[in-house]
Amino acid sequence: MKLDDPNLKRLEPPKLTLFEKTYLPQILGGLVVTGRHILGAAVGGKAITVQYPEEQHVPSANYRGVHRLNKDEQGRVKCVACMLCATACPAHCIDIVGATAPPEWEDREKYPESFVIDELRCIYCGMCEEACPVDAIELTGLYDLTGLSREEMIYDKTKLLSVFDMTKDAEPMQSGNPPATLALPTSPLEPEGPGPRPSSSAGIPPRS
Ligand code: SF4
Ligand code: SF4
Repeated sequence: MKLDDPNLKRLEPPKLTLFEKTYLPQILGGLVVTGRHILGAAVGGKAITVQYPEEQHVPSANYRGVHRLNKDEQGRVKCVACMLCATACPAHCIDIVGATAPPEWEDREKYPESFVIDELRCIYCGMCEEACPVDAIELTGLYDLTGLSREEMIYDKTKLLSVFDMTKDAEPMQSGNPPATLALPTSPLEPEGPGPRPSSSAGIPPRS
């Protein structure tokens, strides 16, 4: 649109009275809101904070937290290494190395030899979960995602499967009852099995 376009609407800032120019009405309005919340918490029992970590916050039913890689009835990783989740991921934080499935796994051709998610880069949009044709990847109700190093926040297959073990009785999207702590292995990039190992950022494009 050009600056001389007749459809261009120019908005002038509202004219303030002398009293409004002191910003006292706005400050008083803010104090009223703050006071209402303080009274609601102190008298009405309407506190919205919890005494974490002694008291655990219960997230909403559709909260999207730490990922898990699901296992099937036989305890095998459900993923069939189709790469749809990695393709759908807008943050490019999923790196999968597929391999030919063992001959006894007759229901699939491939499995993920390596499956890595950079949890720091993830924006928890849930697109990976939506894209997965076999419900192998899901976001759980776990929210206390912490680590002392960047490497700890890069979740490999072992760690993602351990999240499944921790949360298998609390369905994602209906969790409402996450485990009290996220006690996951601290060495996320231990070898997962035979075959080449990816580095922590293998295949993950650098941040732009
Ligand atoms: S939740 Fe979104 S950003 Fe995170 S891994 Fe899945 S698709 Fe990528
Ligand atoms: S988690 Fe699902 S979408 Fe991602 S590679 Fe495995 S089967 Fe495909």
